[in-house]
Amino acid sequence: SRDATSAMLERIEQDNVRFLRLQFTDLLGMPKNVAIPIKQAEKALTGGIGFDGSSIEGFVRIEESDMILKPDLSTYTLLPWQPEDYAEARFICDVYKASGRPFEGDPRYVLRRAMEDAAKDGFVFNTGPELEFFLFKMIDGRPTTRFQDVGGYFDLAPTDLAEDVRREIILALTEMGFEIEASHHEVAESQHEIDFKYSDALHTADNVITFKFAAKTIALMRGLHASFMAKPIHGICGSGMHTNCSLAKDGVNAFFDPDAPIQISETCLHFIGGLLKHARAITRLANPTINSYKRLVPGYEAPCYVSWSASNRSALVRVPAPRGNSTRVEFRSPDPTCNPYLAFAAMLAAGMDGVRNKIEPPNGVDKNIYQMTSAERGYAGIDTLPCDLYEAHQALLADDLICEALGPHVLEALTSVTNAEWDAYRTAVHPWELDRYLATY
Ligand code: ADP
Ligand code: MG
Ligand code: MG
Ligand code: MG
Ligand code: MG
Repeated sequence: SRDATSAMLERIEQDNVRFLRLQFTDLLGMPKNVAIPIKQAEKALTGGIGFDGSSIEGFVRIEESDMILKPDLSTYTLLPWQPEDYAEARFICDVYKASGRPFEGDPRYVLRRAMEDAAKDGFVFNTGPELEFFLFKMIDGRPTTRFQDVGGYFDLAPTDLAEDVRREIILALTEMGFEIEASHHEVAESQHEIDFKYSDALHTADNVITFKFAAKTIALMRGLHASFMAKPIHGICGSGMHTNCSLAKDGVNAFFDPDAPIQISETCLHFIGGLLKHARAITRLANPTINSYKRLVPGYEAPCYVSWSASNRSALVRVPAPRGNSTRVEFRSPDPTCNPYLAFAAMLAAGMDGVRNKIEPPNGVDKNIYQMTSAERGYAGIDTLPCDLYEAHQALLADDLICEALGPHVLEALTSVTNAEWDAYRTAVHPWELDRYLATY
């Protein structure tokens, strides 16, 4: 509305903002932005700002490259690492075509559409991700996989650079409006986790992008590299982005049922049923890099089988103990390389399929699945997650419901990205092969 726009313009002036960054996300989940001087603010907030979409990964063909960015006013925030007398602010934007229609290749639009679909049944999808990452040393301006610290899970280490950097990341995020719930050192050396409060999936996806961007920026200012790569080092834990999910109806958590056996509702069970049914296709979105699949292996608390459990951390879907408003299912496969908009859209579409079609999940598995034989798993009907990106993409193409949730534009772009990436990987000669074969043959 006009009022909201002029209130925002006033705020921008009060904050002494010199530059506005209009931010959006490409198909690979990379944040992009167009910086505009403050003189353009009014134009940006009223009509949007045009840009050429043809150079953005997975965006458009040349002939339809004129795009418009329209700022979402609710996403305004100052960038806290900028000096006060040179303030910069950013908006996350929705992408429109020159015709004025939403652009089908905008990941934020894909998630918006999935949210609107769930809203037809009165549901709001809430997500709370747990982002893990490494802080690595930079040497000669290049990231390495050298550790900055040698702490372990929940260690109270003597103050070191990594601890300082984690604290500074938390401070910056707090200034940007995040409600930080917890942060701790993770299992691996130099690995950290920072948890922020859940919200509706659209704002959470925005937050994931902001989180990674802020963490990288702050780390770099201290000479470290914050890496969200899924499995940077063989033989130790990779980094996950467990995603806690729930549906709310009329502001009430629809997964909680005090009278049910383990106090989770039919809606929750069916949501789990949908997640499991479509788990293999969702993997393509939740684990989008070649490297993602090196994390999804036995032995590191990352899932590799399609199962759920009320307690067991080897399952793909876990139901954490809290109930009431905190009743949720934890989807444990995603890693922080995912495009959160697409991953959440796929998870929601799958869950809603479960809810609408009353898909009963198989029995929960409370045993450690890694210790079951493949015959035992077969008997229990436990499927495996895709082993690599190629298999995951085939699983996606075979799943009409998830394909439809993404739409043909996104699907086509993802297919060409996958083919190119897979060919490059498949034809490369890796150090492992030389170690294995060079001397022998
Ligand atoms: P874990 O026990 O797996 O380490 P954490 O405590 O690290 O879990 O993270 C829990 C996450 O779940 C937080 O981001 C929190 O905000 C989120 N969460 C809590 N309640 C809900 C809910 N009802 N729906 C979605 N997410 C929720
Ligand atoms: Mg956690
Ligand atoms: Mg925790
Ligand atoms: Mg963790
Ligand atoms: Mg977790």
